[in-house]
Amino acid sequence: MARREPPVRWAPRLRPERLRRLYTADARGLVDEELIDDVGFALYSRCRSILTASRAMHGEVECPQCETVIRREPLDADYPLVCPQCGWATTWGEYHRTFQHQELYGGGAIDIFRWYVEQWERAATPQQKIQLIDRLVHAWHWETRQDHILGRPTGVNLIEGNRQQVLAVLDGLTYGPGSSPGLAEMDAAWRETWRRVQAGTKPNCEE
Ligand SMILES: [Zn+2]
Repeated sequence: MARREPPVRWAPRLRPERLRRLYTADARGLVDEELIDDVGFALYSRCRSILTASRAMHGEVECPQCETVIRREPLDADYPLVCPQCGWATTWGEYHRTFQHQELYGGGAIDIFRWYVEQWERAATPQQKIQLIDRLVHAWHWETRQDHILGRPTGVNLIEGNRQQVLAVLDGLTYGPGSSPGLAEMDAAWRETWRRVQAGTKPNCEE
């Protein structure tokens, strides 16, 4: 290809220490708006990337230059992707490689990633924002579907590390008398779900 196309960019996963700092400050009753916005917006960008990559997997590729949706045939790596609007061009195989193995496929948690993006755009107060962040990172794949076995933690898509490391990060978050309303209850509910995942309802890890 003669033309030099701009690289496709995906938002990275959150560094665990940023999440730890957020929960430690919150447990002390500190409202650090800058930190809340920093973490919340990083997760918002990540969720948007997950939605874009997941949509591409289902046949609708968003042009990285002008956001025009390009429809593609499934499973053909050589399939040419050409934006009818701005001329951006690649193949499905090349495009797919830009997000493969990066935990960008939303799978059974796509509902919650979409929910977070919509809610974050409307959130006004630091309290609302921290509750959204809390809900997002403590969700599980297939949690919103009654007909599926519970899956992996959404944190795997959002926070750096493998499944075990991400579970350790979530397990080690700090709560205290100053914690925002609802966070301790969410933690308890999350632990209960974790127990159920471990106790035989075999998790669907390879979705
Ligand atoms: Zn375009």
